[in-house]
Amino acid sequence: MLKTFRNAGAALAGVGAIIALAAVPANSQSLGGIIGSAKKVAAAASVSDEEIVAYFGQMSEKMDASNPIATPDDPYGARLAALTEGLDSYDGLDLDIKAYLVKDVNAFAMGDGTVRIMAGLMDKFEDDEVRCVIGHEIGHVKLRHGQKRMKRALQQDAALSVAGTASGDARRIANSELGGLIQNVMYAQHSQKAERSSDDYALEFMAANGYNQEACATAMDKLAEMSAGGGVELLRTHPSPAKRAKRMRKKIS
Ligand SMILES: [Zn+2]
Repeated sequence: MLKTFRNAGAALAGVGAIIALAAVPANSQSLGGIIGSAKKVAAAASVSDEEIVAYFGQMSEKMDASNPIATPDDPYGARLAALTEGLDSYDGLDLDIKAYLVKDVNAFAMGDGTVRIMAGLMDKFEDDEVRCVIGHEIGHVKLRHGQKRMKRALQQDAALSVAGTASGDARRIANSELGGLIQNVMYAQHSQKAERSSDDYALEFMAANGYNQEACATAMDKLAEMSAGGGVELLRTHPSPAKRAKRMRKKIS
């Protein structure tokens, strides 16, 4: 029986202070430090790309710490490794693709090349359909949608916490708010335009790797069927799958 995905945001909500004590990679700031300083500069809309990539890296670590990762000898791990064989990098991005043993129909990619596919999605999708999801998520990364979303979340967060930071210890306050911030980033919607461009990116990804483009459309058909029953996490952040299927079929016909 698979568990439910634990967003690191929820996991962190009560233990934010730990982050300030965590080991910090040599050339990056602590997550709390990034948020603390990002809050100040976000008001001026000038969070650097390096800061955001470092931040994604730390978010990935937290997410991995909060969810069971399929090992290579696990059936999900073995299947994902087989279907992504040779896909160590794409479009200049080094990829780290793994499965979470959780029942959610969902997936995400981070700006540091982390791609996580949830077992619930693998149960529903054929290999090429999973590959299309991977291509779509890489699209969000390469087209920098995540960075824009992160900036937006930081700006919202900065706006919300003006009163809080005025009370003194900005770093401590920033850490305690991290959970909410990660929730914002994970569950904020990309624009419809961003979704369309990621779908186009996925179609190119399929062609470039010799995968079947039609699987992108059948994956959408399945999502459309599932959406009738509700509770599909991927659909909380994505537009109508029926429309996306129609659009993609037109593109590949
Ligand atoms: Zn998307």
